[in-house]
Amino acid sequence: MKTYGEGDAAVHALRGVDVGFEHGAFTAIMGPSGSGKSTLMHCIAGLDTATRGSVRLNGDEITGMGERRLTRLRRDRIGFIFQAFNLLPMLTAEQNILLPLEIAGRRPDWALFDEVVEIVGLRDRLDHRPSELSGGQQQRVAVARAFVSRPEVVFADEPTGNLDSASGTAVLELLRTSVHRLGMTAVMVTHDAKAASYADRAVFLRDGRVEDEIDAPTADSVL
Ligand code: ADP
Ligand code: ADP
Repeated sequence: MKTYGEGDAAVHALRGVDVGFEHGAFTAIMGPSGSGKSTLMHCIAGLDTATRGSVRLNGDEITGMGERRLTRLRRDRIGFIFQAFNLLPMLTAEQNILLPLEIAGRRPDWALFDEVVEIVGLRDRLDHRPSELSGGQQQRVAVARAFVSRPEVVFADEPTGNLDSASGTAVLELLRTSVHRLGMTAVMVTHDAKAASYADRAVFLRDGRVEDEIDAPTADSVL
């Protein structure tokens, strides 16, 4: 449960949401604007804390963790993909991909790096800076960055929101490929039914509650 504000001004963004994200699956969180998608993602990704209830990452309770532990948890155990790519402009694609590992003081797993770079198709773009890449290519760098630390879960917040339809489709394809080939887990927030059709499962929110859950969603089944 997540409530913003108090008393008469209280907004109940999440009310009794009980949802699990299966290991090795790609899940989409869908729902209309204001239904609580971002709030849910922020609570499960340790970017915000639930007002009541329990959020666990592989059995570890997140609710009640202090900011320092949450920062460490996000750094060491979670990968993030944002709508606005969030790459550092002065770093090359390769440096951007490796930055989270560098910040965490971890040595790259070069076999995984190679596999991720191959999946996202950026082998010949590794020396380019973001300004020399298209939006779709920049988001593919962000996808590689999210997976290369082998996080326990990758969160993607409207990953196709800033992309044209063709590059958006390419990014969704390789998100799905990354999850399945690398045996990882990803959760994507999207309001786009076509984007959700790339996921293994879709969870629908409405007014802060889970309205429906669908396995193997298609663009028609989620509209
Ligand atoms: P969605 O991502 O599905 O558009 P949100 O999770 O952003 O939905 O919002 C759910 C509800 O919580 C909405 O009514 C929204 O106005 C409210 N809300 C979100 N963030 C805040 C905040 N920081 N302060 C107050 N209300 C908020
Ligand atoms: P929006 O969904 O509104 O476009 P973003 O997806 O860019 O916003 O960011 C969502 C939230 O996550 C923001 O509150 C932002 O401050 C936070 N955030 C962005 N990057 C990181 C990061 N690397 N680590 C932790 N929090 C982040």
